[in-house]
Amino acid sequence: MSLSRIIGHEQPKRLLRRAFAEGRVPTAYLFVGPPNLGKSTVAVEFAKLLNCLSPLAPSSVAEADCCDACEACQRIQAGSFADVLCVRPVVRIGSGAQTQTTEFEGAVLTTDQIGEVITRANLHRTRGRHKVLIIARAETMNPEAANRLLKTLEEPPEGTLLILTSSNPSALLPTIASRCQRVVFHAVSPGALVAGLRAQVPEATPELVETVARLSSGRPGWALTLLRKPRALDVRRRLVDLVASLPDQPLIASLALGEELLSLCEAWWKAINEGDEAADVLQRSGDRARRVAMVDVLDLMASILRDVMLLCEGGEERVLNVDVLPTLRSVAAGTSASRARRAAAAVQQVQRHIRGNANLKLACELLIVQVMELLRVRAVA
Ligand SMILES: [Zn+2]
Repeated sequence: MSLSRIIGHEQPKRLLRRAFAEGRVPTAYLFVGPPNLGKSTVAVEFAKLLNCLSPLAPSSVAEADCCDACEACQRIQAGSFADVLCVRPVVRIGSGAQTQTTEFEGAVLTTDQIGEVITRANLHRTRGRHKVLIIARAETMNPEAANRLLKTLEEPPEGTLLILTSSNPSALLPTIASRCQRVVFHAVSPGALVAGLRAQVPEATPELVETVARLSSGRPGWALTLLRKPRALDVRRRLVDLVASLPDQPLIASLALGEELLSLCEAWWKAINEGDEAADVLQRSGDRARRVAMVDVLDLMASILRDVMLLCEGGEERVLNVDVLPTLRSVAAGTSASRARRAAAAVQQVQRHIRGNANLKLACELLIVQVMELLRVRAVA
């Protein structure tokens, strides 16, 4: 990776390159924008540029970039460079040597993680020119940790850059936000996303790239995951078939269909994480891994139902799941826009419960019953 290989985000990249080229890097940035746009990825690439042993076009505002090959670049990429640290909220799954961490919406940054950032900030630089400390989803810090971090921001050690990322900057301490230079990230435009995906995954068919670009709603990282893990798209297709089958199923089938939905969550986990280890973690994690996967699967299910709603309203050009249009049209023919909207809302409500502590099996079954009822009968909107 390098800044130039990151899809989209031209304005933030230009601003960062200018700071590097002119030697005017501030003590702290706050990267703001919707979740999963790649803000942390840009932060890591900027850390590489700042520490690269042979940067490309170092005085160019348009093209300055890391070499992506020197020891510093490689170590930063691998997370083993002493002067660059990235912390993010994770949940731990499994135990002992087989512990796996994964990002999860409900996870928060721990006091220990922020403590590690502060300790690193106060250590002498070992090999790099710039110490870069990245705190992803900074709004999940607790107030105690935030206050400790504030002290570091007030008296930043020389040569240290803090990069905070947040999709909800209003939840940050105002005294923290005001000490950071703000950099705004936006969803990547469909045209830029398609062009970038084609360049990075040339083996993918144009139809697949188009579908994935739409499904990802301007989030390049998510689009690349889908393109590089085609089994994940298979799971999405099975989910489309499941939703499409609901109007014709008897109510008594809801138990089995709920189990089918739960099994799709397992299949999704294995597709995204791949390998035998993923299946193993799934077995050992209680319901934690299923819960993480189910949040993703319900995101997809909500997008399918929103597409059905759009088709009921005649808004076909805004449909995301373009590759399964005929199936979605047949579902739309049997329901109304308001019922499809209520079905999508029901999915999002269950998603909130799943992020809490709801029983997964029961939640799947109840959701199936609700969506079944809403899609079944053409009703007056
Ligand atoms: Zn380099």
